[in-house]
Amino acid sequence: MNKRKIAVIGGGAAGMLAAGYAAYLGADVTLFERNTLLGKKLGITGKGRCNVTNNCTPEEFIKNVTANGKFLYSAINRFTPEDTMEFFESLGVPLKTERGNRVYPESDHAVDIVLALKNYCLKNGVHILTERVTDFIKKADEEGALDGVVTEKRKHTGFDAVILCTGGLSYPVTGSTGDGYRLAESVGHTIKTPTPSLVGLTSDDEICSATMGLSLKNIAIAVTDTKKKNKVIYKDFGEMLFCHFGISGPVILSASAHLRPMEKDRYTVAIDLKPALDAQTLDRRLLSDFDKFKNRNFANAFDELLPSKLREPFIKLCGIAPDKKINAITAEERKRIGTLLKNLPVTVTGFRPITEAIVTSGGISIKEIEPHTMGSKLCPNLYFAGEVMDLDAYTGGFNLQIAFATAHAAAEAAVWQ
Ligand SMILES: Cc1cc2nc3c(=O)[nH]c(=O)nc-3n(C[C@H](O)[C@H](O)[C@H](O)COP(=O)(O)OP(=O)(O)OC[C@H]3O[C@@H](n4cnc5c(N)ncnc54)[C@H](O)[C@@H]3O)c2cc1C
Repeated sequence: MNKRKIAVIGGGAAGMLAAGYAAYLGADVTLFERNTLLGKKLGITGKGRCNVTNNCTPEEFIKNVTANGKFLYSAINRFTPEDTMEFFESLGVPLKTERGNRVYPESDHAVDIVLALKNYCLKNGVHILTERVTDFIKKADEEGALDGVVTEKRKHTGFDAVILCTGGLSYPVTGSTGDGYRLAESVGHTIKTPTPSLVGLTSDDEICSATMGLSLKNIAIAVTDTKKKNKVIYKDFGEMLFCHFGISGPVILSASAHLRPMEKDRYTVAIDLKPALDAQTLDRRLLSDFDKFKNRNFANAFDELLPSKLREPFIKLCGIAPDKKINAITAEERKRIGTLLKNLPVTVTGFRPITEAIVTSGGISIKEIEPHTMGSKLCPNLYFAGEVMDLDAYTGGFNLQIAFATAHAAAEAAVWQ
């Protein structure tokens, strides 16, 4: 029996797993990658350590998928986070689980994951071509089915199935520049407008530029939405960073996934600088500090309470003269200070550009994709895997798990169809 011929477009996380697995299942697979190296983005994931998955159940995984989690139900139950861990360990990459169930290679080197996937492809006989795909070629005799692809170098025909894994629009230097959207559109697919997710937030507030570079650990944030009567729409605890453009860092990146639609000045991030102290305990702490420093100027009131870079801008926000004596601070002023310490507001003006986002929200509409097979409902032998689809999740290894689970489902369907 002739082997099924499969073209996989994109040699990132999804493409390498799809190609290697389809070849393992017996197909004759050609993997097209536009870069000279495979897995360029994968190599910089997790700050070079690659948070390869999240050690959680499929149910917990789906709760962490921000857009269209239910679509992944079938794929994730057939290739669970546990399967991802077993897969990489079977390829000779020992893993470890850290805080928040984040899974990393024991070596802390993302390159080990890239090499494991590349070797998996080579071991199973995948032909790797470093060519950029620019178009699809349709079969003459079947309705809408694909015969092959056009690359910048030549035409490749005679394929039984094509798996499109070209990623989203974020970090385009790694190769994900939106080619997949154009290819999918050429066969009738709808693209949900790509927007940045897991990205820094811009703000014009002086506190950001004044404290640029300051990283705050163990803070809490509550994000409110003015269009929903200032309802709190997201809460988190952890680490954040003030930058020249506004705010960033882990809790801010996670919050960004909830700020949809993004509109200037619609959302406010209230930072609780002292989450371990409730309002009353904090007031007692202020009273005690103010008593200790009663003869000092207000400018020096927070020497033991706030990081040095934050003190001056914070004092400005309090609206109290820096040269006022601490023993002259009124109860009403102290209350205002307490409120600010628990709710330091940063008004959000927008997202940083998609080129800086960890993931792209939006992409090929999942309404036109069969969730069990990742097959196109519009083009008989076209399949999708990874970030090119309208799927995205929080940080924590969930986005790579989306890539692996969808690649696994697409490979099986493309081979067994
Ligand atoms: C800085 C950063 C850190 C991240 N860290 C993590 C993390 O630790 N854990 C996590 O779960 N997620 C992380 N992510 C997200 C994760 O990397 C992506 O969700 C994941 O790589 C998506 O896989 P993919 O295969 O769909 O797309 P990609 O990895 O982007 O791969 C797409 C591939 O297709 C190729 N390609 C594109 N167009 C063409 C074409 N026309 N012809 C041929 N080839 C083409 C590209 O060159 C690229 O190699 C991170 C993202 C970034 C940017």
